[in-house]
Amino acid sequence: MGRLILFTGAGISAESGISTFRGSTGLWNGHDIDEVCNYLTWRRNFHAVHNFYNARRTQLREVEPNDAHLMVREWQARYETVILTQNIDDLFERAGCTDVIHLHGSLTQMECHACGHVWDIGYRAWDQENERCESDKCNCKNAIKPGVVFFNQEAQQYSKLNKIINSLTSDDVVVVIGTSGNVIPISSLLENKPGYKILNNLEPSDSMIIRMTDDSCFNEQFFEPASSAVNKIDEILRNRFL
Ligand code: NAD
Repeated sequence: MGRLILFTGAGISAESGISTFRGSTGLWNGHDIDEVCNYLTWRRNFHAVHNFYNARRTQLREVEPNDAHLMVREWQARYETVILTQNIDDLFERAGCTDVIHLHGSLTQMECHACGHVWDIGYRAWDQENERCESDKCNCKNAIKPGVVFFNQEAQQYSKLNKIINSLTSDDVVVVIGTSGNVIPISSLLENKPGYKILNNLEPSDSMIIRMTDDSCFNEQFFEPASSAVNKIDEILRNRFL
């Protein structure tokens, strides 16, 4: 039997009440992405960066996994499954999923760019004025960053993504849910790779179309909320993984 490879983005958490990334305005929760999510400028924008991620982190405490996260937990129990997510929330884990590969880090972690120490902060705000690096040896204050991968920052987990994509076989099923493909061009990565590929987003997007033609690399596409699409995808998986 083949594997189920799940690749998700912000859209899978939208029905839990977490905003997706770039709306038509190019803003994320009303903020300029370049101001709050850029490794080249985050020290200059230190307060705006921490205010922004503090708000995202404390909001995370208030939301719950939705039916799509819960369905993924069922799939993981049933099939050999790899979960790759661009999401920085922890809704898969709270739905009961394990071994989730967070390609862009985690809201509930902080990292010190002076000593490399990484620690869990839970769902609380980081006090920029008074808190310090939690490593005994460091104690620094100005190099503390949310444990989220910014633009222009190395994404260490991408090697796992590439390894999994390069290991695909025709028995595998790849399910892509809730990503525009603007940050990681998943349709290009999947182009010419074996496997049965399924896409779910709210709407078709140019980034998911290969070579400016109408040909998609996906065998099936569902343009509807993830909470309903997962039921249709579930039927397909049951048939393919008999
Ligand atoms: P994106 O915002 O660029 O695209 C979201 C996609 O989800 C769109 O294609 C949209 O059609 C689809 N979508 C929206 N609501 C949906 C729903 N209910 N059901 C199914 N699909 C739905 O997101 P991205 O491609 O993941 O890139 C965003 C980047 O922003 C990532 O790097 C991620 O780290 C970060 N981000 C994360 C979160 C989170 O952790 N929840 C939220 C916002 C942004």
